[in-house]
Amino acid sequence: YAAKQARSGVRVYRASDDQNTPHRLALIGDLREAVDADRTLVVFQPKVDPATGTVVGAEALSRWEHPEHGFIAPDLFVPLAEHSGLIRPLTLHVLEIALRNCAVWRRTGHDLHVAVNLSPNTLSDDTLPEVITRLLAENGVPASALTLEITEGTLMADPDGGLVTLERLRRLGIKISIDDFGTGYSSLGRLRDLPIDEVKIDKSFVQKAAHDHHDQAFTRSIVQLGHALGLQVVAEGVEDEATYRHLAAIGCDVVQGYHVSRPLPVDEFTAWLRTTPAHRTAIGDLAVAQT
Ligand code: C2E
Ligand code: MG
Ligand code: MG
Ligand code: MG
Repeated sequence: YAAKQARSGVRVYRASDDQNTPHRLALIGDLREAVDADRTLVVFQPKVDPATGTVVGAEALSRWEHPEHGFIAPDLFVPLAEHSGLIRPLTLHVLEIALRNCAVWRRTGHDLHVAVNLSPNTLSDDTLPEVITRLLAENGVPASALTLEITEGTLMADPDGGLVTLERLRRLGIKISIDDFGTGYSSLGRLRDLPIDEVKIDKSFVQKAAHDHHDQAFTRSIVQLGHALGLQVVAEGVEDEATYRHLAAIGCDVVQGYHVSRPLPVDEFTAWLRTTPAHRTAIGDLAVAQT
């Protein structure tokens, strides 16, 4: 594994690593150059309604190809961006690319929404609602076609400021999703008080659910409770047919994962949309969660 890592040229950080190693500082410098020049990339992973196979949207995910080290995982460079003031420009870049492409899909007859991830601290920026309003208007995308994915940690980072911004975003008609649900400390009971529209079950639970009875019960109860609270329930990390079927059977609204498609560069995503007969695009709006 170490050899493979060395060959791939990507150094993996551990929590114990010094926060300011020369390597880390150099990487931040390189990231700053890439972000300043809008050279980070955005890929799109389809989201599908498992009951019908209909494509309902896509999650926009950042990619960074380092000139020497090759592609660096977002789990590594997003935290670097968060700690060096680069997360705001990075997020705005993703929003811009995501909304521009979403507008194209919608103009060409695919009624899709697009989801963008928000880091902690981004929510304490109270200009965010205005900036997003402008980007939606410039691209002619309705607010209801944008979903913002936040983790429980993002809310905990600034519970008060974060909530105020969330309320404002939601009043605009933007959908709010709790990403990686199940990995944090929130119960669904606590979520009922939050201004959210969707929960996204973390892939660690999703992947075990096809084979393990306890995990099956867990995903089933999240779907039931989510629906009882009026939330849409999404599952990420769906890697095989058995998991897909399980999620369809328990009434999960939307699934996302390698079994449907990997995240794709936009040209490939658009081609995939056109040529994937099993995955028709939605005619109406996003399916609302049944109770
Ligand atoms: P996430 O938001 O939970 O995104 C889902 C991650 O699961 C993505 O990893 C995606 O490629 C991966 N994935 C999708 N389907 C499967 C599957 O079937 N199996 C497995 N094993 N993995 C699957 P990725 O792209 O490496 O991103 C990792 C995390 O980095 C994201 O997790 C998100 O938290 C963060 N991230 C990525 N792009 C951005 C961004 O533009 N802004 C912010 N703030 N965070 C981002
Ligand atoms: Mg996400
Ligand atoms: Mg997630
Ligand atoms: Mg995740």
